[in-house]
Amino acid sequence: MTDKYTQLVNSGIGRDVAKRLGLPQPAILRRYHPGDPLITGPVLVNGDSVGADDLATTLLGWGLDVRRNALPKEKLGAIIVVLDAVQHPEDLGKPVLSVGTSLRDLAPNGRVITVSRTPRTAPTPASSAARQGIDGFLRSLAKELRNGATANGILLGEELATTSPSALGAVRFFLSGRSAYVDGQFLTVSSPAGKLPSSMDKPLAGKVAVVTGAARGIGAAIAATLHRDGATVVAVDIPAAGDHLAAVANGIHGTALQLDISRSDAGQRIIEHAVERHGKLDIVVHNAGITRDRLLANMDPGRWQSVINVNIAAQLKINEALLASDHFKDSPRIISVSSTSGIAGNRGQTNYGASKGGVIGMVRATAPLMEPFGGTINAVAPGFIETEMTARMPMAVREAARRLNSLKQGGKPQDVAEAIAFLASDSAGGVSGEVLRVCGQQLVGA
Ligand code: NAD
Repeated sequence: MTDKYTQLVNSGIGRDVAKRLGLPQPAILRRYHPGDPLITGPVLVNGDSVGADDLATTLLGWGLDVRRNALPKEKLGAIIVVLDAVQHPEDLGKPVLSVGTSLRDLAPNGRVITVSRTPRTAPTPASSAARQGIDGFLRSLAKELRNGATANGILLGEELATTSPSALGAVRFFLSGRSAYVDGQFLTVSSPAGKLPSSMDKPLAGKVAVVTGAARGIGAAIAATLHRDGATVVAVDIPAAGDHLAAVANGIHGTALQLDISRSDAGQRIIEHAVERHGKLDIVVHNAGITRDRLLANMDPGRWQSVINVNIAAQLKINEALLASDHFKDSPRIISVSSTSGIAGNRGQTNYGASKGGVIGMVRATAPLMEPFGGTINAVAPGFIETEMTARMPMAVREAARRLNSLKQGGKPQDVAEAIAFLASDSAGGVSGEVLRVCGQQLVGA
C-alpha cells in the first residue's frame, strides 16, 4: 500500500531523473498533525468587497499573517480570492488576473481558495454566468498548480456572509493539511448554522460517533481520526471481522459492535449500543461497503443485489431508525461514503456505481429531514485511495488510477477520514446535502 514511485521521485537522484524524462512528479503532501499551524506563510486575501475586508479581519484575528496586497518575491502560504459580489463575467478578469501574478510565489503545498456565491440562486443570467464561470476557472486552475498546492472553492448561499460559521470552518479546512487530497472541489455553505469549536485540535470533544466498516481500511482510519479529534467511537463491523474490530476499538478506547449493517434491526442495535454504553449518539458514519465487480453483460442477481443491499439499502434503513429516534435529535451528523464511481462511473462497476450514486441521492433528500433539529447529512466521495482493496488491482491499472489526478498520486485513508471529521464537526453545521470529493481532482470522468 506504499507508493514507492512518489518516494523515489522525492529523493535527490530520482527527482533529477523524473524531471529529465518528463515523468510525473507527485509531491509529498502536507497532511495534518495535531498542533500543526493552519498554514505556514502569509495569506493573501484578494478582492475589494466588504466580504473580503471582513474575511481578512477575521483571519488576522486568528493570528494569521494576512496581506491585502502581495509583496514582491514573498512566498505565500495561501491566496484567498473573494468573489462574493461579482455580477457579470466581466467582473472576474481583474481579481483572477491579479491571482495569476501571485501564483509563482505560492509555496509548495500552498492553497488557493475562492469564496463566491452559489449559481443555483443567482438573480440574473449574467450573475449566474459569472458564478458558474468561477467553477470552470477554479477547476482549471487546480490543474495548473504544482508541488502539492491545491485550489478549492466555497460557495455561499445568497444572504450568507463570508464570515458565517461554516464559511470560516470551510476556510480552515481548505487551508489546513486536513484537506491535503481535496483538490478542484467546491463546498456549498447553505445556512448560517454551526460554530467554530473552542479547541481547534479537539473539534469533536464530547461527541459519540458510530463508524461502520471500521475493522480495516478507510473505516479504521475514520475511527482513529474521530478519536484523535476528541470523539468517543463505536466501531461497527461484521462478526467475521471481530478480532480486527476489537483491536481497532481497543486502540482508540472505544467500543466494538459486531453487526451486519444489512440486518433489518441494525439501526436499532446501533442506537441501543451507543446510548447504553456511552449515553448518547451524535455522529453516524456510513462507511461499510463492498464491491462485486462484473461487466453488466456478466452480472448475476446475487452480485447486483448484495452491493445494493450493503452500500445503500442498509444505510436508508438505518437512517429511518435514526430519524425516528429521540436519541438522535441534538444537532446530529450523518456522513456517508460514496465514490467517484458513483459520479463519473467506472467500467465493471454498474452495481457499485448505482449504489454510490444512490448515496448521493439519499443525502440530498435526507438533508431537509435533518434540518428541523439542527442535523446535517453529507457524502464524501473518495477517488483512488491506497487500501487493501486497491492494492489488489492489477499493477498497470493501479498505476494509471494513481497518477490520473492533479496531485499524481493516490490518497490515503486518512485523507477521507479528515473530510469526514470536518463534516462531523460543529464548524460544518451550515453544510448539508452536499458531496465532497476526496480524489486529488481525478482527471477521468466528471
Ligand atoms: P475495505 O473492504 O477495506 O473495508 C470495508 C469494511 O466494511 C470491512 O471491514 C468489511 O468487513 C466491512 N463491511 C462490509 N460489509 C459489511 C456489512 N454488511 N456490515 C458491516 N460491515 C461490513 O474497504 P475500504 O477500501 O476501506 O472502503 C471503505 C468505504 O470507502 C467503502 O464504502 C468503499 O466503497 C469506499 N471507497 C473506497 C475507495 C478506495 O479506493 N479504497 C474509493 C472510493 C470509495
